[in-house]
Amino acid sequence: MTDLPRSASTVIVGAGVVGAAAAFFLTERGERDVLVLERDRLGSGTTSGGLGGIRHQFVDELDVRMSQLAIAFWRTFEERTGARHDFHERGYLFIANTTEGVAQLRRPMALYERLHVPVEMLGRVEIAELVPRMRVDDLAGGRFCARDGYGDPLVALAGFAGAAQLGGARFKEGVSVEALLREGDRVTGVHTPSGDVSASRVLVAAGCWTASLCASAAIAIPIWPYRRSIMESGPLPQLASIPLVIEWESGFHFRPKDTAQRFAMPNLTADGREEKGPAGPPSAFPGEFAPLDVPPALEPWVQARAAWRHPAFADLRIVRSWSCYYEMTPDDHPIVGRVPGVSGLFLAAGFSGHGFMHAPATAELVVEEMLDGRARTLDISDLSLERFASGRRPFTAAVL
Ligand SMILES: Cc1cc2nc3c(=O)[nH]c(=O)nc-3n(C[C@H](O)[C@H](O)[C@H](O)COP(=O)(O)OP(=O)(O)OC[C@H]3O[C@@H](n4cnc5c(N)ncnc54)[C@H](O)[C@@H]3O)c2cc1C
Repeated sequence: MTDLPRSASTVIVGAGVVGAAAAFFLTERGERDVLVLERDRLGSGTTSGGLGGIRHQFVDELDVRMSQLAIAFWRTFEERTGARHDFHERGYLFIANTTEGVAQLRRPMALYERLHVPVEMLGRVEIAELVPRMRVDDLAGGRFCARDGYGDPLVALAGFAGAAQLGGARFKEGVSVEALLREGDRVTGVHTPSGDVSASRVLVAAGCWTASLCASAAIAIPIWPYRRSIMESGPLPQLASIPLVIEWESGFHFRPKDTAQRFAMPNLTADGREEKGPAGPPSAFPGEFAPLDVPPALEPWVQARAAWRHPAFADLRIVRSWSCYYEMTPDDHPIVGRVPGVSGLFLAAGFSGHGFMHAPATAELVVEEMLDGRARTLDISDLSLERFASGRRPFTAAVL
């Protein structure tokens, strides 16, 4: 029998990077009675599987503003949390094969300029300087932001959780929340196999499992899982400090992780097409959880793509690979903020492939909604659950 408290001011469901960051921001604001419930281990959900990319280069203004807020935090992570973070500001380099691809990359440049994000369009010579010996003769151009980079999601999560615990938050692993408790129009706590915990505020940060949990309180949430995979090479120390490189048309990307390289790739459909994101939402949420194995067709695809792109990747040895779920929403954007009609209930989930980089911004903003009634640092009303009921579609972005 776990020593589960019977009440807390705030219960957070899910200890991925988002739940842990929210606990940190709550304690930083002086909230001590925070209980984080994780059904498995800290970081055992999607956070364990991500590539760790951190970028300003989005096409929707709110995403860029979230990145600015988050990256300012990532740069001061160690001072704010007292913990180490493996954050490297080495840039994100998009490369395009076609003139149409270059035109698409150029499209948000006016937005970056207006928001003072230092992004530049590059030609082949400048691209070759950023990643020596990389193949560029097939490229029509690229786009680069030196202020982007990459980090380590699990290291960051540990830092958030450690600092939150020092601030008074309690984390309980192995506790599955089976239902949200609701009396009329307010949430009153959560139900677990070890008993109920009463709480006046509940934040659901349960990633792609959010829809099933919220259904227990008759709240429909359009989040579903979409499997994506990552592969890691043996040591390639000559590429240990390159930017994250992403092929615009194919979606193939790679970044160093210590002396190895990590590769992310689109899925391959049964008829051999490359698929960066799901064709559309399932007919009922949360939809199907595909088995988390790595489809065998991906490794030869990655080896061929990688060998084409850089001679250091010829005869590439993949030493590790894994799959994890993107937590998708119908517009590829998260749901963050209060749940309309259920006082005390908040959501931060559905990041559609970019939840790690935005975690500090998401957490800060959702904590403002919880403690101040609304997010003050940025207007996040476009991220509210209500947009799906109203049919409002404030975003244009697609999955990378
Ligand atoms: C292949 C891949 C590459 C990615 N690359 C990037 C990238 O480059 N940059 C980036 O920013 N993002 C990236 N992402 C996305 C990023 O990893 C996620 O958006 C982020 O980790 C989501 O964090 P989370 O805390 O919302 O969810 P999760 O990490 O999934 O955490 C949710 C937690 O809730 C727990 N939980 C669920 N239900 C319950 C319950 N009923 N009771 C108790 N606990 C529960 C789960 O066990 C889990 O630990 C990538 C994802 C994948 C799959």
